[in-house]
Amino acid sequence: MEESLQRSNQDSKKHDNPVELTLQSQWATPSITQILPVTLRHGDLHAQPGEQPLDDREWASRDNKVLNRLGQRLAKHLAQRLNRDPSGGIERTEQCELQGFPGSIRVLDKEEALTEANQQRAGTTFWSDGSRLDTGRAGAGVTLQAVPEGPWEHVEVPMGHGHEVFDAELVGVATALEWALERQFLGPIWVFLDAQNAIDRLRSTRPGPGQALVLRAHRAAEKLALRGQPVTIQWVPGHSGIEGNEQADQAAKRAASKQTAPGFEHLSLAHVRRACTEARRAAVSEWAQINAVQGRHRDGCVYKMPRGWNLDPVAGKAPKRVASRYYQLKTGHAPIGTYLYRIGQRESPECQACKEPHETVRHVLFECRGRRAGRRTLYQALKKAGVPLPTAAEENPEARLFAEPRATQGLLQFVAEANLFNDKERTAREAESSDAWGWDTLEEGGLGVTLEDE
Ligand SMILES: [Zn+2]
Repeated sequence: MEESLQRSNQDSKKHDNPVELTLQSQWATPSITQILPVTLRHGDLHAQPGEQPLDDREWASRDNKVLNRLGQRLAKHLAQRLNRDPSGGIERTEQCELQGFPGSIRVLDKEEALTEANQQRAGTTFWSDGSRLDTGRAGAGVTLQAVPEGPWEHVEVPMGHGHEVFDAELVGVATALEWALERQFLGPIWVFLDAQNAIDRLRSTRPGPGQALVLRAHRAAEKLALRGQPVTIQWVPGHSGIEGNEQADQAAKRAASKQTAPGFEHLSLAHVRRACTEARRAAVSEWAQINAVQGRHRDGCVYKMPRGWNLDPVAGKAPKRVASRYYQLKTGHAPIGTYLYRIGQRESPECQACKEPHETVRHVLFECRGRRAGRRTLYQALKKAGVPLPTAAEENPEARLFAEPRATQGLLQFVAEANLFNDKERTAREAESSDAWGWDTLEEGGLGVTLEDE
């Protein structure tokens, strides 16, 4: 691992990567130079945009050999992906005393959780939810039925672009507790929501995505506790027909479609992080397009064959990570459902991309509904190389393709493009559930640098 990192550092000094060349026009944009430097370079937990020493712009300079690796590539892709100018800043975090939630947090198993959510309870019950529309706009909704069978009251918080569902869920909790403070409701305070990652985040004030909202929720809960109203945050299974949860869901969706409220000018860390993950994926795919398909390549950063293996000259030129996946598929040891199930790493052989019950190599390559785009690329490459396409009648097309040298380029590109082991849902989950900043991981996962193995 260490060795491969070092090697890749050297590689990026030695070689003019076409991906990097195209960056020059992009990193002139000041908003982009503001967004990445310190965090990417140092994994610095404290630095905020505007607080960076001037020399941090070095990262964007082609002359600075140390830095011309990841940041430039990401800047380009981030520029294409962030749907909002980051001039409003990025979510701030602070070093503070680590504290647990000043109240109770309850995550029961599903059945129990449903039963409790349906029960009457003493005190005041809020339902909160977060939402993010396809347009990228987010919002939080909080609802309350002050009198049983009475009318529902709503608070809607429109957050606009630059936030994730994770953020919206936390906004919901903070809003509910502040509402409780303001309105002098009676008795214990309950907040029900259906997002376990947000609930987990509330357990600690540690720095990282969502910290500011966690602090807001903690402060409100403390004040409520002081005036004799203990707070309980409780998980309710989503989409289970529980009225409060449905009301909150609707309120959150309405909020998301409205004009952004003040206080959400910044980009959230969860959002930036997701953009980084997507950028990294796009960079690998672009690398494969340029290098594996068009035949150009860098000498370094290649997959090192296990001793005694025959080197496939085409695969040998691919980025290490892509080539590694290619050989894993070829040998039946890829981290896909049937294999992971067999070695006891997963509870079912199901395909996570399309839910088909058996994720086999054949399924991944020729059948999976979650990998259509990659398959189109594969078939185009096969046609171009004059390799017959698989037919439904063919018994073992995957073996034929893996044995056919002319098919290797197409297969490599499939591996790079098809979200092979990282479906979209997982990206979102990773981005949302991450408590840590994860910049270190990001650095490690730079183009062709590590194997990112499960
Ligand atoms: Zn599938």
